[in-house]
Amino acid sequence: MKHLFCDVCKKEVIEPIPSRTFFQLREYDLCESCRDDLEAAVKYTVRDKKPFDFAWFDKLRIELVQDGVKKNKINVAKVSR
Ligand SMILES: [Zn+2]
Repeated sequence: MKHLFCDVCKKEVIEPIPSRTFFQLREYDLCESCRDDLEAAVKYTVRDKKPFDFAWFDKLRIELVQDGVKKNKINVAKVSR
């Protein structure tokens, strides 16, 4: 069986099921709890963003993930713009 590790918290995903127990975002694999953190972080930031811009949204998500990969967790409280 293929072993899959979350790129953010580096924990192994037991029984990886795409879109169920792990989530792919570009070249990154996220476990369920890191994905939840990412969604929460994005929600905080998106709330004040009008009009909504998908390119911006996509870039924001990747930046949050890349930051999370370095710090081993997604910073939910991040409200940088
Ligand atoms: Zn994780």
